[in-house]
Amino acid sequence: MDPFWERIRADSMSGTGINAEDALAVLRLPQAEIWSLLEISQRVRHHFKGDQIRLCSIVNAKSGLCSEDCAFCSQSIRSQASIEKYPLMEEEEIVAAARDAKQQGAREFSIVTSGFSMQSNRELERVGNAIARIRTDVGLETCVSLGMLSAENISFLLSRGLRSVHHNLETARGFFPSICTTHDYEEDIRAVRDAKAAGAWVCCGGIFGIGETFEDRVDLAMTFRELDVDSIPVNFLNPIEGTPLDGMCDLTPFGCLKIIVMLRLCHPLREIIVCGGREMNLRDMQGLIFAAGATGMMIGNYLTTSGRPAEDDLRMIQDLGLGVRSL
Ligand code: SF4
Repeated sequence: MDPFWERIRADSMSGTGINAEDALAVLRLPQAEIWSLLEISQRVRHHFKGDQIRLCSIVNAKSGLCSEDCAFCSQSIRSQASIEKYPLMEEEEIVAAARDAKQQGAREFSIVTSGFSMQSNRELERVGNAIARIRTDVGLETCVSLGMLSAENISFLLSRGLRSVHHNLETARGFFPSICTTHDYEEDIRAVRDAKAAGAWVCCGGIFGIGETFEDRVDLAMTFRELDVDSIPVNFLNPIEGTPLDGMCDLTPFGCLKIIVMLRLCHPLREIIVCGGREMNLRDMQGLIFAAGATGMMIGNYLTTSGRPAEDDLRMIQDLGLGVRSL
């Protein structure tokens, strides 16, 4: 067998993960090689993570008016996108959204807010109260994505029943200033490290198709390794009208699959969750995300865009002979 194929198979099946050079080679492979890649990534996923898929769902609990200028985001200060803008939802509304998510099939629920950080202790307390009820009354695992959180804030939320802290790095360190100028990459790195240190399950991923190079994609994958993140959410750009990236179209369905494969082979033991932009970028190839190595996906609506009906996703999982993981 060709040494490259032998090496990527051995390095991923050993649990160590492939190196940066091989990760780049994976992304550069011609489209025809996707089937050989999927044969490996499917085996790695099955071996380490089994055939039960994680399903999570989110609520956009505070929308728009964000001080940050992330170029892909419809909620940023730079965006002219026509979206609904509102302050932090009431506790009752957040809990109701979690109940809906559970009914649709989600096992984990994330409270997401726009903005650099929470505005006040009152806001944090409201989120904490909602977490406690989602955990005990609704019966879902809990996650938050609230921007920058201090170690104290995280400890408080963990004491209320929080399991995961989500904080995306979005892209590679070197490319980040082309996407966001209002804060520094190192602040995001610190936020991820703080969440790990506080004992949270850390969900840290990025968005692809925003103008980054293959090298940037590999750099980001290696940064996830350095930070020892637990779960990697993968978003593909949905270029929303009114955002600076409106009209950008860098991704193909096979390109998206190769990104998932590359992440799976770099991170054999981690969760890889396919999130925003799945429907529009993968189109009829959505069913292949699990062969590519995904262990979960987000169902329902995204932050400011709609997803497809959850029953379509549940049927897809069943048709593939996979199951839904209970957390
Ligand atoms: S991605 Fe988050 S931080 Fe960046 S503009 Fe959007 S809401 Fe703000």
